Amino acid sequence: MPSPCYVLEEEKFENNLQLLDSVQKRSGAKVLLALKGYALWRSFELAKRYLSGITASGIYEARLGYEEFGKEVTTFSPSYKLEEMRELVQISNHIIFNSFAQWQTFKDLIDTQNALRERKGVAKIEVGLRVNPKYSEVTPKIYNPCVEGSRLGIIPKEFKKGVKKYGLEGVSGLHFHTHCEQNSDALKRTLKHFVEHFGAYIPQMHWINFGGGHHITRKDYDVDLLVKIIKNFRKKYKTEVYLEPGEAVGWQCGFLLGSVVDIVKNGMDIAILDVSAATHMPDCLEMPYRPNVRNSYAAKAYFKKGKLRLKGEKLYSYRFGGPTCLAGDVIGDYSFKAPLEIGDRLIFEDMVHYTIVKNNTFNGVPLPSIGVIRKNGSFELFKSYSYEDYKHRNS
Ligand SMILES: *Cc1c(COP(=O)(O)O)cnc(C)c1O
Repeated sequence: MPSPCYVLEEEKFENNLQLLDSVQKRSGAKVLLALKGYALWRSFELAKRYLSGITASGIYEARLGYEEFGKEVTTFSPSYKLEEMRELVQISNHIIFNSFAQWQTFKDLIDTQNALRERKGVAKIEVGLRVNPKYSEVTPKIYNPCVEGSRLGIIPKEFKKGVKKYGLEGVSGLHFHTHCEQNSDALKRTLKHFVEHFGAYIPQMHWINFGGGHHITRKDYDVDLLVKIIKNFRKKYKTEVYLEPGEAVGWQCGFLLGSVVDIVKNGMDIAILDVSAATHMPDCLEMPYRPNVRNSYAAKAYFKKGKLRLKGEKLYSYRFGGPTCLAGDVIGDYSFKAPLEIGDRLIFEDMVHYTIVKNNTFNGVPLPSIGVIRKNGSFELFKSYSYEDYKHRNS
């Protein structure tokens, strides 16, 4: 394996897919993969055996899903431009709007496309509206779509106005996305608010999309409760239910391989790696959190006579940093049973979702390669990047 490299572990990935498929089978809901969290399309051959399709944040993801997944394509974007919508109507099953105005802007285009589809006998585009149920338990605020002043989803008052002005003819579904890494009890509480504000409109819908953020493949996730909630909902309202997880699909089924390039001293040992929080694991800084490193132990920074020191659970402690100029490009503090040496390889766990889709070439830092460990244990390299990739991104 080259270093650095994002490595998908196929067996663990398939376990996630099988669990998600069991949710589909038991609850009757459809599960779509949210490409914004996980778009490693060379693994879609496997994913499409289990999931019902993909959900896209816009035209590029919709295209990728259409080309490489080939099942249902749902698209939600806070705003669409005409040239994007011209393409989207060719490849989408569901198009979800963030306002009545955007829906009205593109209604004729969609109607025209649907008349064409009807003549060809293919399934029509179904329109949805994203709503804001004014309830979300997500922290930190940057990930909470229901904060004051949020632009995501139509608030109940505006929805009422929209219905009065335009009606709901031609709208097949409602969508809310208010979760992030949450268990099914949060969905249960959220649904109350959704129903309180939008319950009157549910009976006329074909489907309700419960969004993403359901941490279904996490060990302590209450799958039985999720299945129960969905079954009750479907029975009560006679609608289809969609879930669109990203993180739960790519959860704990791959790692980022990195190496120690240098070790410097400044009150502690600081290992400088060929992987970076800023460029390769941006959520470590954004969320923020400390990723797990295989075979490592905890370490803690503390002050001794006004000087910053590291104290580890094991004897050898290091602060890990990336090769960028950013002083805060610190991945975390770790300790080990044996000292690290230049060239040692490190495995950053759970690094295939929200990493490859978000990485960047700040400082011209090379992008990690991408590969897979197959079920038979063999490694296959999917892709490596070069100087040309950096150059072409900059004009
Ligand atoms: C982010 C997002 C998802 C996926 O969320 P996860 O937390 O990765 O499950 C699904 N739908 C929408 C609209 C989103 O914005």
